[in-house]
Amino acid sequence: MTDASPLTEIADLEPAAASLRDIRHHIHHHPELAYEEVATAALVAEKLEAWGWKVTRGVGKTGVVGTLKVGDGTRSIGLRADMDALPIVEQTGLPYASGRHGRMHACGHDGHTTMLLGAAQHLAKTRRFSGTVHLYFQPAEESGIDSGAKKMIEDGLFERFTCDAVFGVHNHPGAEPGKFLFRKGAFMAAGDKATITIEGVGGHAARPHLAVDPIVIASSIVMALQTIVARNVNPAQPAVVTVGTMHSGVANNVIPSSAKLELSVRSFSPEVRALLKQRITELAEAQAASYGGKAHVDYIEGYPVVVNTDAETEFAIQVARELVGAENVEPNADILMGSEDFAFMLEQRPGSFLRLGNGVGEDGCMVHNPHYDFNDRNLPIGAAYWARLVERYLGR
Ligand SMILES: [Zn+2]
Ligand SMILES: [Zn+2]
Repeated sequence: MTDASPLTEIADLEPAAASLRDIRHHIHHHPELAYEEVATAALVAEKLEAWGWKVTRGVGKTGVVGTLKVGDGTRSIGLRADMDALPIVEQTGLPYASGRHGRMHACGHDGHTTMLLGAAQHLAKTRRFSGTVHLYFQPAEESGIDSGAKKMIEDGLFERFTCDAVFGVHNHPGAEPGKFLFRKGAFMAAGDKATITIEGVGGHAARPHLAVDPIVIASSIVMALQTIVARNVNPAQPAVVTVGTMHSGVANNVIPSSAKLELSVRSFSPEVRALLKQRITELAEAQAASYGGKAHVDYIEGYPVVVNTDAETEFAIQVARELVGAENVEPNADILMGSEDFAFMLEQRPGSFLRLGNGVGEDGCMVHNPHYDFNDRNLPIGAAYWARLVERYLGR
């Protein structure tokens, strides 16, 4: 790192704050769900082109990539923002509230997109770096399976627009705006779903010896599953196995022929995640077999664990300390139970996912709530952070 050229300060982005706010409110008023971000993607692409970025549309369906190469530096950095909204009826009553009933930017992705646009405009103007910047505007972060990050990667994101490291941000209700939160290693949970279908032999309730009772098998499996976290997972590792639904039977005098369980499975390390999947499958199949029935486990992997690499996270922490002061930087935030599809990008490249406080108390409304709104105070702060991160990473 050298200080050969001046670095971006938040004050440099303040003159752009009003226009960034207008962009954010426009996106907020026109929310689009996963893979329907046509107008949002068009807005992003047109802005980037107007500022001199090379733009590639339709990466991972509705994703947009902006590329800016300055100087002859060979290093490259990727910055990611998500663009999709949620199927929620907005109740904020704001003048720029959703104009589409049942669709709402209730996770702040309008703000994430706008902060990255603010950085794009500033970087194209100042060009105080040497190397290549790729901006990944992704669709469908909220879709749970077949999400936007995964789709962009399958569409060759890191081959066509390669980077040495990738960074992403999410706003964070419960911390003051302008406060940055980081964590090295596992930061956010993997969230999986397992469905266990149990096949027995139906019959008359008065003649159980001629049937194979799937309700007894299901009950036995539920109890056996409790031993996975208690007896198989290292007690130092967080993990959850919850049976959320249990369905079988229609009448008191009939032994049904099948039963179904649905599980939510959470973990914070790839090893524990693999162990949970393995033990759920083994226990369910063996328990069912021991009663003369059969169990089939359909295990659907949701988002992986968000694992931040140490060096890139330390770098991101240092840049935040320079920009907002050490008192506004939490380098060792608590792990979070939520999941993020940025995890797929971190499986491909070193990098870091960070959180930016969105407000506390009355301003601390949780995301996915109909009263939530992204905090506009973060627009120049987030944009300045991305710009400075680029200037530091691709320092001349
Ligand atoms: Zn969300
Ligand atoms: Zn989100």
